[in-house]
Amino acid sequence: MSLRELETSPAFKTEVMFEGIRYSSALAEAAEHSLPNYYPYRFRKGEADPTGTGKAQIPYLMITEDNTLIRVMGNGNSPWSVEGSRESGYRLCNDRDGNSRNISFEPQLSWLSQTTSDGFPMAQAGVSTHRDMLVINVAPGCEYFLKKHDGRSMRCTFCSYGAPDERTAHLGQIAGQVEIPAITLQRMNEAMTAVMAETEVRHIYLVGGSLTDPDLEGERFLQLARAVKACNPDGIPVCLGSAALSSDMLQTFYDEKLVDAVCFNLEIWSEKLFAQVCPGKNRYVGYDDWIAALENAVRLWGRGRVYSAMVAGVELEPEYAMNWEDAAKLAIEGAEDLCSRGIIPVYSLHWPAGGKERADYQSRLRNFFERLALGYQEIRQRHDLQVWDGFMCHRCAYMQLECDMDRTGESG
Ligand code: SF4
Repeated sequence: MSLRELETSPAFKTEVMFEGIRYSSALAEAAEHSLPNYYPYRFRKGEADPTGTGKAQIPYLMITEDNTLIRVMGNGNSPWSVEGSRESGYRLCNDRDGNSRNISFEPQLSWLSQTTSDGFPMAQAGVSTHRDMLVINVAPGCEYFLKKHDGRSMRCTFCSYGAPDERTAHLGQIAGQVEIPAITLQRMNEAMTAVMAETEVRHIYLVGGSLTDPDLEGERFLQLARAVKACNPDGIPVCLGSAALSSDMLQTFYDEKLVDAVCFNLEIWSEKLFAQVCPGKNRYVGYDDWIAALENAVRLWGRGRVYSAMVAGVELEPEYAMNWEDAAKLAIEGAEDLCSRGIIPVYSLHWPAGGKERADYQSRLRNFFERLALGYQEIRQRHDLQVWDGFMCHRCAYMQLECDMDRTGESG
């Protein structure tokens, strides 16, 4: 049985994630009141472009009636388009069979247009949300971008978001400085308070750029986690999304009850691919030490509380010369190995930068993703591991399938 044959929410979500959505006037209307997409819609050659500019703002996240969350990707060739209006409700329509289903979009919340007590825009305070997940990223600049060895950058090959530049300057982050400025934490506090007053938050995720010294990175995350704890009176579950840290450092997080789960992102399975895809993580932490830190975390927080985000599909980039069957086999082997250690990998769909000119590009990636999703579900069941609802859930997982696959018949 393939994922496509299952008439389930994960199958529908996968289809829309891969095929994207065509531009329409209803989509344009939705963009006016929805959380904006990081990537504008780009009209293809010959496509009617009412903006006359070649691109348009579109919503970021779509929500189905059963609360499945799907990231919106613009695609002028897609059979999917949006009809309806804010007043009457939106429908996602499919040209192939003429069917449609009711949808909504993640709204633009009002805190995003508010300012902190010192007049700083809350939208730039290092706080963001996708539905019930609140992400804190007050030091996003990653030192791996600043390092080269043998002429090769140490940044992860797929990463476009960690460059220390003008996007990070407003947070007061200075290269080489470990401490987060007090004013940055104060603004974060105010933005968090505003978010929690406006919408229900069920998970808090601490992330940030890496430092070449993992102990110093641990110090920074300790400072951050202590500050977050001070403005989390209801004890919403917090996840530590740093690099893999030493056992002493992990013990401190555990003893102070600063976080409820950890997620150290291995990104890719196999020592060889890890060294190729994540040269900085490999050089400054190391593959074996990364996995050992995840195992240490399982000893402290227990099975079901330790995660590793994986970039599903990066192995299909041309330089790794893998066919999709071998790539899926290797990824499933990795899932088996990690789950046997009590570690839960979470796979986010990656759109490879290279190889898009290949006619079979889309089908290779989709075959890989679907086989992995099904194979990995069986592994989770066999190891009796579920994604903990305090870490992530189907309401906030917009590029991952695990929570959608594991929920059974609930509609909340
Ligand atoms: S560690 Fe890798 S993925 Fe994370 S910010 Fe740095 S380069 Fe990007």
